[in-house]
Amino acid sequence: MAGCGVRLLLVEDDPTIAVPLQEGLLREGFQVEVAATGAAALAAPPAELVLLDLGLPDLEGRVVCRELRSRSAVPIIVVSARGDELDRVVLLEMGADDYVVKPFGFRELVARIRAVSRRASTSRDADPVITVGPLSIDRRSRSVRFEGHPIALTPKEYDLLVYLAAEPGTVKARDQLMHDVWDVNWWGPTKTLDVHVASLRKKLHPDLIETVRSIGYRLVDPATAG
Ligand code: CA
Repeated sequence: MAGCGVRLLLVEDDPTIAVPLQEGLLREGFQVEVAATGAAALAAPPAELVLLDLGLPDLEGRVVCRELRSRSAVPIIVVSARGDELDRVVLLEMGADDYVVKPFGFRELVARIRAVSRRASTSRDADPVITVGPLSIDRRSRSVRFEGHPIALTPKEYDLLVYLAAEPGTVKARDQLMHDVWDVNWWGPTKTLDVHVASLRKKLHPDLIETVRSIGYRLVDPATAG
C-alpha cells in the first residue's frame, strides 16, 4: 500500500487539523501517532518520520525540532502557519528536512512525506560503507566518522556529504546539487548549499570539500588536497 506502514509522528495541538489529517494519512497506509504537545512529542516512541507543527502550546517548535534532531536522524517536516516569518536557513540549521505552510493541500503533504522518506530510505539501502581517506560513512546507520571519531550531522549535511563522497574528485554543479540533494520542491536560493558546505568543513576538515569557482563543489581526501 502507498504509505507502506511508515510510522509517522504527527505533532499538532489543533484537533481540527490533527484528527482529519490522521484519518487521511491512515487511509494512505501510514501508521500515525499524534502528539498534541512538545512534551508528548519528545516522550513518543521513535518514529520513521515526524510532521512537526511549530506553534505548540508548551514548547517552541524549533526547540522540539532541535531536541528530536539531537537524538536521531529521523526525517522532520515542519508545518508552519507563519510562512512569511520562517527563517529558512534557521530551519535547515535546526535540522528540518522540508516544510509546508498552512493551509496546505493533503495531496501536497503526502507527496512531501513520500519524497522525504524515499530519500532517507534510498540512502539507507545503497552500498553501505563509503570510505574516502580519513572519512568513513556507514549508510546503514547513517553514521559518519572522521579519523575514527563519530561526527554528528544534520540529515541534510549527511545527504550532501554522501552525495559528494559517492564520487570523490568529481565536480558537482551547484544546480545539480540543489536538485539532487534538496529536490525540486526545495526553497531555491543556493545560500543553503553554502551554509551546509561551510558546516561540513567545520565539523569534518576544512579541505575535505573544494570549491570549484563558479561551478560547484567536489569532495577530496584532505591528505591529497591542494
Ligand atoms: Ca499549533
